[in-house]
Parts: sequence; structure tokens; C-alpha cells
Amino acid sequence: MQPFSIHPDTAKAISTFELPESLGFGRTLAPILYSVDYADGKWNGGALMPYTDIRIDPASKLLNFAQVVFEGLKAYRGEHEHTRLFRPKMNWQRINSSCERMMMPTIPEELFFEGLCALTAHIEPFIPTVSGQSLYLRPLIFGTQPDLGLGTSDQFTFIVIASPSEAIATGPLRIVIERDGTRAASGGTGAVKFSGNYGASLYSSVAAQNAGFDQPLWLDASEHRYIEELSVMNFFAVIDGAICTPELGGTILPGITRDSLITIAKNKGIKVNERKLDVDEVLELVQSGRCSEAFACGTATIIAPISHIGEKDGTLYELPEPTGRISQSLRKELLDVQEGRKPDVSEWLYAIPRHYYPQNT
Ligand SMILES: *Cc1c(COP(=O)(O)O)cnc(C)c1O
Repeated sequence: MQPFSIHPDTAKAISTFELPESLGFGRTLAPILYSVDYADGKWNGGALMPYTDIRIDPASKLLNFAQVVFEGLKAYRGEHEHTRLFRPKMNWQRINSSCERMMMPTIPEELFFEGLCALTAHIEPFIPTVSGQSLYLRPLIFGTQPDLGLGTSDQFTFIVIASPSEAIATGPLRIVIERDGTRAASGGTGAVKFSGNYGASLYSSVAAQNAGFDQPLWLDASEHRYIEELSVMNFFAVIDGAICTPELGGTILPGITRDSLITIAKNKGIKVNERKLDVDEVLELVQSGRCSEAFACGTATIIAPISHIGEKDGTLYELPEPTGRISQSLRKELLDVQEGRKPDVSEWLYAIPRHYYPQNT
């Protein structure tokens, strides 16, 4: 028997759900969710239930002190096989680092996997099989204790929601160097998926859009000199044929796509350098042609080529290969593994175990 409970209206919520014509990214929400509470020092039993509003106390630690962390990963159905998650163990490890940084209880591996697998198994019929589309899963943990004093919550909720999605549109990006604002400082929360990081990034994001760019490119907080990343994507540049990406140093989010691309590139015999990238040096290398392409990567987009890097005053530097030859070949290689067209040599895919599926299938 399943250790989690299933709300009696779950099957009805699933049977009455219809996918819209156009999915978008993160817009179409699956009709059910998984939820489990933490109280008195332990996690209780999880439950699948119809998607619903949740009750949050106005005095909760979540609303007053942003005690909330999240994850993002994808389930791929493929055409003939059962649904598989991409490197979910890394998301489990990362959400626990986020929890530790935010003084929240870690989530046991069994419970994290139960949430992902139970939800995914039950909505498998709605997972798109078109290449590039998938089920985007969003686990969240937040503090629910009502108490206005600054301190950590003693009650939490872990929820997994899901969205049948297209990949985020990946036209070549025009990014603007953010020389004033800061995303993450040393000793801060940049290396974890803490929701506050993203709310705090919006000011620069909107300014970038108003100036005609897609996104800001964040630099280090102390010198405003070294490239860090984008707001939800890691940064790569191809310099003299080698792939270069800023080394992780506590302020950059350790992306799972970043890690996967480094592995794929090394397996293809492409040189990979994880090092400091001085933004002005990179601009010179772009102008001299030695930096041939740049790209951003993350679960939602996979890889987006960067066509232009600019300054707020309107100065623009176009990459010699604005649509990215190497980045497109890496994207194809990763997607071929994720969607089951190429052998999973690194054992990145995790098949949803049969016992999570509804009993009558
Ligand atoms: C989530 C995220 C990424 C990408 O991580 P993936 O595991 O590849 O999805 C990169 N940067 C930031 C700031 C992020 O929040």
C-alpha cells in the first residue's frame, strides 16, 4: 500500500481536467498537488489532493520573513516509455542545502521522491510528449507558524505542484551588464533557491526590459567586475573553442543544467574551464572574435544562446555566433538524453516506480 493518502476528490479532479490548446511555461497548472506538513519536530504523512488555494495565516513566518525555498525540475514522458525525472536526487540535495541556509527542516529523501513520483504518476496522461515539452515540477517548502517575532518557524509545509509546459521561448537573448544592482553577496543566499533572491532581482529585470534587453547579467557584489549568472540561469562563454563558466563560489546557484552541460562537453572532448570571468575581458574577447558565443542555461529553458551583451547606456556587443553553434549542439545532446533518444550513460534519468501509479492501471 502507498504510504501517502489520496483525497477522495483526486480522481475526479484528474478526470475532469483538460489541457488547453497552448501550454506556455508554468501557466497551465496540473489539477492535483502533493502536500505534507511538518510539526512537533517531524514530517507527517503526505497526501495527494485536488489543486486548491491554501490557507496561510497572515502572521506566518512565510509572509513576514520569507521563510520559503523552492526547486524546479522536469519529468519527460517520451513516446514509448514511462515517465522519467531528470536528476531528481540533485534537486533533493539542493533543496536541503536551501533549507539548511534558511533554518528550515530538511526533507527526507523518501518524502521528496514520494511527492514528485506520486504527483507525476497520477497526471501522466497530461504530460506532453512533443519534443521540448515536459512536466515542470515545482517543490516548495515554507514556514507556516503564526508568530510576528523574528525567528524560525516551528511548522512547515512541503508542497509539490506541476505544470505541463513548453520549454520557455529560447530566442537569442540580449542581456545587459548590471553594474549597479546586486543579486547575491558573499555570505548571503545566492547559492540556494531561496525565493527572496528572485523577488529582489525584479527591480533590475524590469529596468533591463525597459532599456530594450531581455535580462540583466549579474556581477560579483564586491567589485562589480566578475560575471556571476542571470537571474534563473547560469552563464557560459565559448572562448578560443573552450567552454568557460564562472566557478561556483557561494554566490552562484549550482545549476543542474550547468553541471550536466559540463559533463556532456567533457565527454565530447570539449575543454571546460570553471574560472573567474572578468566582464570587461569578455567584452574585449567578443570584439576580437575570440569569444565566439555565449549562452545561458537552466531547467526551464535548457539552453538559450546570447546574441548581444550590452551596457545600460545602449552600447551593444554582438557575439560572432549569435545563435551559437556549440550551444545548439549541447542543447540537442542534453535533450536527446532527457527525451530518451540517446543512451543515458551518466544515469541521469529516474523512472517513476510502478507502485506510485493509480491502482487500477
Ligand atoms: C534555478 C537556477 C539556475 C538553474 O539551475 P538548474 O538546476 O539548471 O535549473 C541558475 N541560476 C539561478 C539563480 C537559479 O535559481
